This record gives sequence, C-alpha cells and structure tokens, in this order.
Amino acid sequence: MIPQANYHTHNSLCDGAGELEEYIEAARRKGFSALGFTSHAPLPFDNDWTLAESDLTTYCDRVKNYKYLNGLEIYLGLEIDYIPGKMGPAQARWQQYGLDYTIGSVHMIPHEGKAWSIDGPDDEFIHLYKQVYHGDGTAMAVEYYRLLTEMIRQGGFTILGHLDLIKKKNLKLNFLDEQAPAYTHAVHEVLDALAESGIFMEINSGGIFRGVTKDVYPSPAILQKACRRNIPIVINSDAHTPEALDFYFPEACSLARQAGYTTAMMLLGESWQEIPLGES
Ligand SMILES: [Zn+2]
Ligand SMILES: [Zn+2]
Repeated sequence: MIPQANYHTHNSLCDGAGELEEYIEAARRKGFSALGFTSHAPLPFDNDWTLAESDLTTYCDRVKNYKYLNGLEIYLGLEIDYIPGKMGPAQARWQQYGLDYTIGSVHMIPHEGKAWSIDGPDDEFIHLYKQVYHGDGTAMAVEYYRLLTEMIRQGGFTILGHLDLIKKKNLKLNFLDEQAPAYTHAVHEVLDALAESGIFMEINSGGIFRGVTKDVYPSPAILQKACRRNIPIVINSDAHTPEALDFYFPEACSLARQAGYTTAMMLLGESWQEIPLGES
C-alpha cells in the first residue's frame, strides 16, 4: 500500500506556491486520508522563505479551522530550524500553538554570527564551502551532521527533515564524496542518535521534484542502515506546490521496501500508526 498522506508541505505563507485551500483540494482529489501542513517556522532574522513572525498565529488558526473536512484529516505542523543558541524545535515557545507534530531540520550552518544556507542561494553555499571550509566538502558535511545530531539529542520534534540535505548541491557543484569514511561515520552518528530518540525519519522526494538530486533524502544506503536500526519512516514529498503532494510516492515506497522496511508511519485519528507498505 502507498500511504495516501503527506506530512511535509509548504504553502504561500512561507516559500510554497498555492493557498492552504489549494493543497486541501489537491489532497482530496488524490484521495488522501491525511494532509499535514509544515510551514517553515519564523527565524530570528529577516528572510524570504519562512513564515513571518506576525503570520504564525494566523497560519495556525487557519489550518486548525480545517481540521476535519469531509473525510480528509488535516494536521497542523511546523518545520523548525535548528540554529544553536538561537532557535530549535526543543524550545518551549512552540508549545503554545497547539501543533499536532513538528519536523526538525537544519538548512543552515552558522559561522561568525550569520547562518549560511546550505540549500538556498549558491553564493551562500559557496561562501561556506570555499571561505569557511577551504574546499573541504567532507568537513562541511561533518559539521552539518554534527548539528543534526545535536538537534536530535535536544529532541522536541516528531520527524527529522531530509536527513542528507547537504548533498543537494553535489550534482551541480561536485563538492562531496558520499563514500568518504568521515562522511559515513557522521551519518552513523545521526542514525544512532535517531534510533535512541524515537524520532521518525522521512523519505523526502523534494530534491528529485526540483531536479537537483537523483536520489531521495536520504540516499538508499542510509535508508538501509536506518532500517537496521529500526528507525520508523514517514513518506513525504516536501511539497511546495499542490501537484507535488504525492510526487514519487510509489518509487519512495519501493525504495523503502528494498531497504528492508515493511511499514511506514501515518498520523491518522490523531495518533501515529504503523501502516504496512505491502507489495509493490
Ligand atoms: Zn526543509
Ligand atoms: Zn520543507
């Protein structure tokens, strides 16, 4: 069975295209059982890709307003960034919004007081890669995974977002060897922390949808190792348009099965349940 749900979606209140209602309509058209909204949580500095602090309550109220709509379960979430000392999913402040679940993600590596994007504008990425890490892509990736591990240990969230997002620009910029021992070691530390935490891992097809990666996040080799550690998975597309809601789902399910998974997690009837992936 292919899970008819997506718990990682954006919309026009953050960096997605389309109103909440357009996502709901698309989910109903696709026969979904559940749809989760996870706008990017506001950051403590100006940017053009997260919710504005002043829109956060409106976003929460609007999603909650739709909670049950003719058989489609609608859930309220946030994708929350981790920036050490500045913000993270473990902060108590998120509890006041009545969120059903949260995604914890790292999109930035901080350096000298500024958080530099690893998946956004090339110039920010290249600054990190060349000026901060002096062309050592592995060292940069190791720092990314160190931040992920730190975020997981602090906890306070439900799903880890796009585990190996650091590879996003590798196809274009060829800066990273995903077989390097230091790289795989850092990934193992993330997986060990995840297994201990009970936090779910997502299979995220967003990179393929954008045409920037060949693989889902995380790569099949990581998926296999996650399965051996019994880390539960959620199948998501990180949709930034309504049409992308079920993008690559059949393939993602096949990859999960090939890695050894027999079930995926779905939030249904207000609780996370293990749903059999079945045969292809
Ligand atoms: Zn993300
Ligand atoms: Zn996202």
